[in-house]
Amino acid sequence: MSQQQMQGQPMIILGEDAQRMKDKSAQEHNISAARAVAESVRSTLGPKGMDKMLVTSLGDIVVTNDGVTILEEMDIDNPTAEMIVEVAETQEDEAGDGTTTAVAIAGELLKNAEEFDMAAKQAREEVDDITIDVDKDDDEVFRKIAQTSMTGKGAEQHKDKLSQLVVDAAKAVTVEADDGSTIVDLAFVKVETQTGKGAGESELLEGAVIDKDPVHEEMPTEVDDARFLLVDEPLELNETEADAQVSVTDPDQIQDFIEQEERELREMVDRIVDLGANVVLCQKGIDDMVQHYLAKEGILAVKRVKLSDVEFVREVVGADVVSDLDSATEDVLGRGSVRRDENEELFYVEGNVPSSHGVTLLLRGSTEHVVDELERGVEDSLDVVGSAMSTGSALPGGGAPEVEVAQRLREYADSVSGREQLAVEAFADALDVVPRVLAENAGIDSIDTLVDLRAAHSEGEKRAGLNVFTGDIEDTFEAGVIDTPGAKSQALTSASEAANLVLKIDDIISAGDLSTEGEEEEGGGAGGMGGMGGGMGGMM
Ligand code: ADP
Ligand code: MG
Repeated sequence: MSQQQMQGQPMIILGEDAQRMKDKSAQEHNISAARAVAESVRSTLGPKGMDKMLVTSLGDIVVTNDGVTILEEMDIDNPTAEMIVEVAETQEDEAGDGTTTAVAIAGELLKNAEEFDMAAKQAREEVDDITIDVDKDDDEVFRKIAQTSMTGKGAEQHKDKLSQLVVDAAKAVTVEADDGSTIVDLAFVKVETQTGKGAGESELLEGAVIDKDPVHEEMPTEVDDARFLLVDEPLELNETEADAQVSVTDPDQIQDFIEQEERELREMVDRIVDLGANVVLCQKGIDDMVQHYLAKEGILAVKRVKLSDVEFVREVVGADVVSDLDSATEDVLGRGSVRRDENEELFYVEGNVPSSHGVTLLLRGSTEHVVDELERGVEDSLDVVGSAMSTGSALPGGGAPEVEVAQRLREYADSVSGREQLAVEAFADALDVVPRVLAENAGIDSIDTLVDLRAAHSEGEKRAGLNVFTGDIEDTFEAGVIDTPGAKSQALTSASEAANLVLKIDDIISAGDLSTEGEEEEGGGAGGMGGMGGGMGGMM
């Protein structure tokens, strides 16, 4: 079923069909390209949505249910179709979840060439109005929010465990600001993955995890009273010095030269010892000689530590990152401890300073593909839980807000006139795509669902949504299917902006010659749709 869908989709928009599209106006052609892309991810919406297997141009395989990942892996170079990818990217950046929703709504909006700003603004106001206040200590709600965003993803199987970890992680980085507001600073939650064990063995760790080995086997791997030196420059002689041409007239000069180099490297180590560091994390390389001397001094050193890890450890142990050893003073050092995991693959770094902050969510799974999809699901959950905790607000899921907002928009449409009325009505109709596709993907009759949902909402049941597991129309908030206003509002914004943009861009493109535009940029190929054919063709 999914295979057929996947094989069927490229037909709509690919090179082979380009001929047939020639007769249509350029605008229609572009709108249909953008819509086709939107439709290609629709089948992943909701807990019963299908996964997609994507084969990248390098032959890597990605199995995912994540809208933005699918669109990013598809090699799309049609400019209007590209706008749809941008909807997903904006949604991912701004809200972390709701990418498929945003793209599906954008696709629907494109059925009508209207200007949607006003409708979107009104829709966001309605979303605010139906938002449910949640107590910031109501962990149960946050766990449900995490679980709702995980369902349908690889993370779902272990959603009890993972949702608890997500909530604990978000709480660990929550601070109350002076003005009484809550800040959930997710920059201090690092998600790391490790293959080998099951997802159920994932854990939340204080501090950082570094997936590296010591540079020398005689170095300690556990340091209880660690004084960390973080360096972002190589612990080597700089290139020009090392490669300098020396003309020697006498063999002693070579010896002198080597000794001079050794002295400089030795001084580097002495400097580190003088500072009092016993753990060195270097973002760049470390000279063999330096490694050797550090080991002799009983100092643990790790080289080529990722910038993001260096920055994270800095927060955990309260260190400064040093570029120039000579001018560094003792107070650049951070405090804490280091230990090795049982498989001798990772270092656990904990901080021991009052300012210490940062936790690591270590996700485990049997294979690379499993942990990658787990990570995408957990990242989405973290974002929505963080947003819900900081705003203290939530929404019922399962299409409930879409149906409620659509209904309110239809009423609102009566109060505006002309073109704007059409736009507001079209916007309301576009929102129906969410409950419709949730039902479709779950094999539930979508027309019946929509009729029932509308009836419930007309009777004032604002939280009535579809629970795809039971097929019932019910208060989805009570049922634990819980979304967030942040992601929902953002989806409305991203979708309407993209639709507006596509329609504007169509106007420009339709004035020129479509087939040469693509060639100019790509240096050949079958016009604007060419690259899309390649990318989509890779999907299986
Ligand atoms: P997105 O990329 O838009 O987040 P998802 O595939 O994650 O797409 O699906 C999100 C939608 O699925 C939301 O509308 C959410 O309310 C809905 N959903 C999640 N769980 C359920 C459920 N048990 N029943 C019905 N809808 C659900
Ligand atoms: Mg989601």
